[in-house]
Amino acid sequence: MSAALRTHRIAVIPGDGIGREVVPEGLRVLEAAGRRFGFTLACTEYDWSCDRYLKTGAMMPEDGLDRLAEADAIFLGAVGWPGVPDHVSLWGLLIPIRRGFDQYANIRPCRLMPGARTPLAGRAPGDIDFIVVRENTEGEYSSSGGRMFAGTEREFVTQQSVFTRIGCDRIIDYAFRLAMTRPRRKVTSATKSNGITFTMPYWDERFAEAAKRHPGVATDQFHIDILCAHFVQHPDWFDVVVASNLFGDILSDLGPAVAGSIGIAPSANINPERKHPSMFEPVHGSAPDIAGKGIANPIGQIWSGALMLEHLGETAAAAAIVSAIETVLEHGPRTRDLGGQAGSAEVGRAIAELVAEGA
Ligand code: ATP
Ligand code: MG
Repeated sequence: MSAALRTHRIAVIPGDGIGREVVPEGLRVLEAAGRRFGFTLACTEYDWSCDRYLKTGAMMPEDGLDRLAEADAIFLGAVGWPGVPDHVSLWGLLIPIRRGFDQYANIRPCRLMPGARTPLAGRAPGDIDFIVVRENTEGEYSSSGGRMFAGTEREFVTQQSVFTRIGCDRIIDYAFRLAMTRPRRKVTSATKSNGITFTMPYWDERFAEAAKRHPGVATDQFHIDILCAHFVQHPDWFDVVVASNLFGDILSDLGPAVAGSIGIAPSANINPERKHPSMFEPVHGSAPDIAGKGIANPIGQIWSGALMLEHLGETAAAAAIVSAIETVLEHGPRTRDLGGQAGSAEVGRAIAELVAEGA
């Protein structure tokens, strides 16, 4: 097959707020990459959002997942808006997609880029380059639990965690496979087996089994509390960090925070078996405080596009985008969150031009 015939079907959901401003910049860069590397994107755009919820009472149509199932990947901006409760936007769109498509691996690369502003004094690019792999479907975020004797002095509330063998093994194995593709080949496990005495020792057990299956990968493990401290004090210790749903949630906000602006951090929700489409979205939300002004940093969205291309097998194009991001972060133009004056479109165009030129 000629290289020019490669087509990737992309479902595009700009969502709310700055999602609508950064997604077009992401697409601009992806299209530039396609022209240079010989693939095309067949994009279908969906207006699923809080806006749609306010007009119609639903974030997405009933057959939403069936429509997305046709795509090779989903490119999402941000979802959420003041006045629409989080559980509506989460449970009406994001969670059905993540669960419906079994996107059990949530990936957040945390890398200090040249020109980005880490809050950690004295840290240079190269010191921070790790990936948080979060279990995305089970664990602490189960709906099993309840409240008894409500309103009385005996009132008590419980919530159970659910850790399955399949659920632990598949995410931990994913982390090991990912580590094999990286030079340092190391996996760190987040745990808390001194306080959470059933599920966490079980996670540790599954982690030890997985380590035996991957003898070429170095391992270590920390309790979540000291691990958070190490993220701040010794971010250079880490390569791939794997964690349960709750611990991964915490680490995957802390990680991008130590690596600099939230505006540049990318993420992926992956179905590693590729039975269903995976979803790529920036770490940041819809940022109502700056929405509509054209000043949002589009790099988180653009970098998420690079993760998407990597997943679709367009490795060279993905690397070209990351390298163009590095150049623009170092030399500008920069948006205000990074101390510059540029708008979203100016940054998007600069990155697209570098990708097109092969600089
Ligand atoms: P969510 O709950 O949807 O994750 P959030 O409450 O965490 O949302 P964000 O929408 O991510 O909040 O915004 C947090 C802060 O970061 C805001 O002040 C916002 O303006 C800023 N911010 C977020 N994304 C960007 C961006 N792409 N460029 C510049 N500033 C951003
Ligand atoms: Mg947030």
